[in-house]
Amino acid sequence: VGKLYSIGVDIGGSKTAALFVDEDGEMLAESSFPTDSGDGYEGFLKRLLEVLERAFAGGTKPAGIGIAAAAQVSRSGNGILDAPNLCFSHVPVCADVEKAVGVPACIENDVNAAALGEYSVRDNPREPFLAVFVGTGVGAGIIVDGRIYHGFGGYAGEIGHIPVEPLGAVCGCGARGCLEAYAGGVGIGRRAAAAVGYGRAPILADLLGVALVSALNLLAPGTLVLGGGVLDAYPNMAEVAGAYAKSEALPLIAADLIVERSSLGPRAAALGAAKLVASKRSA
Ligand SMILES: [Zn+2]
Repeated sequence: VGKLYSIGVDIGGSKTAALFVDEDGEMLAESSFPTDSGDGYEGFLKRLLEVLERAFAGGTKPAGIGIAAAAQVSRSGNGILDAPNLCFSHVPVCADVEKAVGVPACIENDVNAAALGEYSVRDNPREPFLAVFVGTGVGAGIIVDGRIYHGFGGYAGEIGHIPVEPLGAVCGCGARGCLEAYAGGVGIGRRAAAAVGYGRAPILADLLGVALVSALNLLAPGTLVLGGGVLDAYPNMAEVAGAYAKSEALPLIAADLIVERSSLGPRAAALGAAKLVASKRSA
């Protein structure tokens, strides 16, 4: 068994998970607790610090702590900005953790972290590496040269807001016809209800496939990974969408594309967060 090297923390809407890994990225242990126990950020921080301090009780402190959050995060890496899915927002969680435990902490959006996690468990993954996650929301992470590609302002990978139906359903972002309005966890409920009304089957996999074609033709990735809670629960949807995308993308782009399912499932973001520590240190 290796020595504790880094800790990846995944702050989700209902649950926060901590993953303890060694130098080789092998998982040593994991722990989780409810994100919201009705006591806000103070209570959350207290529970998180308890988990971290228990891990340090053996005497070893890690090189760093990576935090993934279902939130917009500060590009300077200090904390959580807007977080509609969390019970707190605008909190300097990295600074608070660093101050309390004396270990450097960094933060990343959970989808980007999950993409890094999926990337890190593959041998020589082909790049660009595109990982698309369909859960409550729909998002993608892009890895280039072993690092998360953020785009100019930090918001690359918003595949959930690629329109798939002109003048379609209004999305949470305010635009019409976004993929996320149909294929995310929230959209699926609405879509299923509409399908019953119109007497036709939901075509979620098709809409996801259509958005994937756009992403593939623009980015020409070497690897496409499909994951997230919805696709893990409905593997057929991933199969259909992946096959559609590969057959409809430009043949020269599709020819060398590897399409795979997520191999980490719900642990992807926490493992990616743990990997973030090593990638920051080598930067
Ligand atoms: Zn949208």
